[in-house]
Amino acid sequence: MSAPVFRFAPSPNGYLHLGHACSALLNFDAARRSGGRLLLRIEDIDPARCRPEFEAAVYQDLAWLGISWETPVRRQSEHLSDYRAALEELTAMGLIYPAFESRAEIARLLAQREAQAPWPRDPDGAPLYPGVAKSLSPDQRAYLRDSGVPYALRLDMAAARALVPDLGWTEHGEGPDGETGAVVARPEAWGDVIVARKETPTSYHLSVAIDDALQGVTEVVRGADLFWSTSVHRLLQHLLGLPQPAYHHHRLVLDREGRKLSKSTAATALRELRAQGATPADIRRQVGLP
Ligand code: GLU
Repeated sequence: MSAPVFRFAPSPNGYLHLGHACSALLNFDAARRSGGRLLLRIEDIDPARCRPEFEAAVYQDLAWLGISWETPVRRQSEHLSDYRAALEELTAMGLIYPAFESRAEIARLLAQREAQAPWPRDPDGAPLYPGVAKSLSPDQRAYLRDSGVPYALRLDMAAARALVPDLGWTEHGEGPDGETGAVVARPEAWGDVIVARKETPTSYHLSVAIDDALQGVTEVVRGADLFWSTSVHRLLQHLLGLPQPAYHHHRLVLDREGRKLSKSTAATALRELRAQGATPADIRRQVGLP
């Protein structure tokens, strides 16, 4: 059997904090223990929020923690053609449609819906997409496109789900409510997810599913906040004929008030803790690792 392949996949839109250290160290330790490989992937598809100085800090912080990874590092922004090819496949299957609404229009539609009845929310607590774009006619779509109205591409969840009725994964770690073992995937809980954003020709879900497959990742070790995203990743893997890695979600590192850490809080940023004299061993202790 070939060696297991792990990956740590940060987005360079802020400085790494204790939660990232926990994830990165868990991946590094597991790769070492199992004689596996550790890849590093820079998830820099959001041009508005990702910055070169944050990417440079990722390398610095990880090296300081004593983590080593294989090179070359995969930077998602350099592989847009891979995501485009997948979008073409999904288009050919009739599973995606353009959605032209602006954020403000979506907010207005949601306010109308919510005034009538409780409106469903996704596992992250955001209201599901309410748009009417799915029912636009081919002529209306062509007109809006030709007029230069920007659009995102969304997955027609009902149509996708009809092709893939049974879907799940084996969880080797734990979800936010202790889910483990055989988990039933519920991609429909996310509604018609975006697969390509207006400003970038891919999305988090699409690029993660594609890259894990292209990089031969066999073990996905990441925070429990991404547990339910796995439903969407499993669906995309199924639709695109991609292999299924093993999933291990770990508990999140929380702040003193019990909240998830944020990249915008300096207090838990690794570079800040380092500047205050913390050692890599202190960081391990703080995130509960040996
Ligand atoms: N880029 C994502 C993040 O920084 C992680 C993606 C993943 O591990 O699947 O939260």
